[in-house]
Amino acid sequence: MRLNLRFSFFALLQLVWVSLSPCYCEVLAQDTKPNIIVIFCDDLGWGDLGCFGNPVIRTPNIDRMASEGQKWTQFYVAAPVCTPSRAALMTGRYPIRNGMTSAKRAVLFPDSGGGLPPEEITLAEMLKDAGYTTGIVGKWHLGHLPEYLPTAQGFDSYFGIPYSNDMDKTGGPGYMAEVRKDTSYYPQFEHYNVPLMRNTEIIERPADQNTLTKRYTEEAIRFIEDNAKQPFFLYLPHSMPHIPLFASANFRGRSPRGLYGDVVEELDASVGAILDTLRDLKLDSKTLVVFSSDNGPWLSFETHGGSAGPLRAGKGTTFEGGMRVPTIFWWPGKILPSTKQDLGSTLDFMATFCAIAGGELPENRKLDSYDLSDVLFRDLESPRQEMFYWTNAQLHAVRRGPWKLHLKMREAVNYGKEVELAKPELYNLEHDISEKYNLADKLPESVELMLKLVDEHLLDIDPHEDMLAIPLRK
Ligand code: MG
Repeated sequence: MRLNLRFSFFALLQLVWVSLSPCYCEVLAQDTKPNIIVIFCDDLGWGDLGCFGNPVIRTPNIDRMASEGQKWTQFYVAAPVCTPSRAALMTGRYPIRNGMTSAKRAVLFPDSGGGLPPEEITLAEMLKDAGYTTGIVGKWHLGHLPEYLPTAQGFDSYFGIPYSNDMDKTGGPGYMAEVRKDTSYYPQFEHYNVPLMRNTEIIERPADQNTLTKRYTEEAIRFIEDNAKQPFFLYLPHSMPHIPLFASANFRGRSPRGLYGDVVEELDASVGAILDTLRDLKLDSKTLVVFSSDNGPWLSFETHGGSAGPLRAGKGTTFEGGMRVPTIFWWPGKILPSTKQDLGSTLDFMATFCAIAGGELPENRKLDSYDLSDVLFRDLESPRQEMFYWTNAQLHAVRRGPWKLHLKMREAVNYGKEVELAKPELYNLEHDISEKYNLADKLPESVELMLKLVDEHLLDIDPHEDMLAIPLRK
């Protein structure tokens, strides 16, 4: 009786407090909504980090992040070049659905004016609706006109360059020719008339690219500090190590790997500074940080491009080197430290972040996004069992389990010629990480099963109207 009375008294007290305090629900939400940070490199290869086997480039901070978190060895982007890869990350949809395949040239060139269609629901919009403050620091590349800028797509604030750092070239020598003459070539930022923006204003042009990574890092830390008391989403798509390569004075000339190594080592220091900030502010136990890259290394730039390690080819191709990216999830005390061989994709950020944030997924469109929470927090199997390799509004390949079937491919080195295969090629990626041994003739039944998967996927695809003129296959 006495206990019941005491319970009733405290219950009454709580009820009074709740009713007098309009912020109670918000306080509760803040406690349960973790912060989310995505650190996204540009053209960083699968083999460019110490923790992914690079023998020379020093990445102690990213290596520590991997040892404290989950390193995913079979994680994919949805396109092998910048714009469609980012559009897929932002929406949880293959670019063929959201209209942002690289066939939509408008967004790839600054003189024309396309962008991610405003009716797409972005990660930032989903998280903003769930009560998050949203910020982007870095390269956007989903449209540079006001109606397509990040501040029109769910971000509260923006600091960075609107497209790639090699665009708007206004003079100077050809980059590739210079690298071939002298591998220690260092470019001049004045040859690229790239604007640096804050929200919708250009604040510097050409952007001094020597200090871009440094300034992005400072800006990201400021954003974290300013928003430490409320749930935030920070998207940090670095401009590096996309060519032209630039590093700030403290990092230049240090790495035995040359300028490319200097650039990656500065990115590593940036990751260290951001994780240290979270620790200092005691936000590490309530912040999910994901590290990844938008596509594989740009191999045609030779020593100024990265490495895909044992994976075949690189950027611009649908071989593993073009679309499998080094990925780490970090959330001390919450994510079980381990190495994961499960399939995952940047497409899955939408459903995963939505589950973590208590948000709502858009219901009036098809998503290609799986919630990876079971793998991250419960050591269960990934719900993603397949990956489709799209490029330029063309489906090139499909993976299911260890099997990958190529229907088409590009020449290995760069955005080479598209090759229509006389017969599909089948590879076992777990036995043959470098896609060397075509098993199609030996396993015709497996080829048939994979072709069925392709047919089902193409039937499921509802292309964006800008894509309708392009035949989906053959
Ligand atoms: Mg890229």
